[in-house]
Amino acid sequence: MTGFRRRGYCPSLESPMETGDGLLLRLTPPIGGWRPGAVAVIAGAAERYGNAVIEMTSRGNLQLRGFRSTSIPPFVRLLEEAGVTEGRRVVVVGPLAGIDPLAVADPRPLASAIAGDLPRLAPKVSVVVDGGGALHLDGLEADIRLRAADAKTWHLFAGPAHLGLVSEEAASHAALALLRRLSARGGFARIRDLVAEDGAAALRASLGGVAEAPEPPARPAAEPIGLHRLRRRVALGLGAPFGRLEAPVLAELARAAPMDCHIRPMPGRALLVLGLTGTQADALRVASVELGLVTRPDDPRRRIAACPGAPDCASAAGVTREMAETLAAQPDLLPDDMLHLAGCPKGCAHPAPASITLVCQDGKFALVRGGTARSAPERILPADDIPSALERKA
Ligand code: SF4
Repeated sequence: MTGFRRRGYCPSLESPMETGDGLLLRLTPPIGGWRPGAVAVIAGAAERYGNAVIEMTSRGNLQLRGFRSTSIPPFVRLLEEAGVTEGRRVVVVGPLAGIDPLAVADPRPLASAIAGDLPRLAPKVSVVVDGGGALHLDGLEADIRLRAADAKTWHLFAGPAHLGLVSEEAASHAALALLRRLSARGGFARIRDLVAEDGAAALRASLGGVAEAPEPPARPAAEPIGLHRLRRRVALGLGAPFGRLEAPVLAELARAAPMDCHIRPMPGRALLVLGLTGTQADALRVASVELGLVTRPDDPRRRIAACPGAPDCASAAGVTREMAETLAAQPDLLPDDMLHLAGCPKGCAHPAPASITLVCQDGKFALVRGGTARSAPERILPADDIPSALERKA
């Protein structure tokens, strides 16, 4: 462990982040996920050494909360002894990489070529290698994006700028050349800085092997929840209520899953259970409903992001969970995108602006529209008045 980080870093086992409820750390799953036994070990350790709150991040990592500086070393030891490994962080491929019959290409060889030669980079720099298919990665921000055009040709993006088409071999050279330029800048350099200074055309010309081409069309958003048909078996996508699981629930899910399947968090704040037969998937879906997990894409709890709040977080000025349950039971009051419930202005559960944000404040809620938990509130309301305030506006 190298020390504690504040925001702006990606917390990990080596660099946990200080938050209102203690230290937070993230685990990145291997591409194929963890066996249920390993997931049960993670859940048990999160309960024993943290505060048992486990979140799925938007980038497909597990986020464990409530650790102390003294509890992380035994937690890490326990994971090592159980053989729980982590996957790559900087270079990301989709959760169905190599097994999705709808995919355009297998992104794993290209991702490995890039990951094997990475220079030193700023903490949040990321490369997405997207083979397409049911769970494509268009919704994931990236400094460098390679999107499969066909089995051996890739669209290259620098941030939001489409640079053109590259062969698979040229793709890794181009991506690494861009990453080295970022690395040479040091500090917190991101690709958007390079694009803003040089422009997309100059960047393309500097790389070589990048052919000008029209930008590929946008795709419908990937839907992680539900059944995904694979080449031989199926995968089941499940969601955590309000993006958050209690460790015992994750342990129960691991126990309910067949021993030979794999489980991994995936982009979209969801969990994917891979390698199931149709019958096993049906049984696991029933068990998941009983555990209170999200099994349907239209579940209203997916439109609410809520942090742990009181009593789990020492910084919380109130309870978030009750209001989240109250509003989930009245889906007509929810915005189409996201309602954010924050225990304090840090807004851990949804740092970006949301249509509606409710921030605990002196036993009441500050109501913010179109902002973050730090934005100026429209009104301060008692909890009982929140449903009617949302109803009037709706
Ligand atoms: S936003 Fe929630 S989890 Fe984050 S510090 Fe505040 S109360 Fe704690």
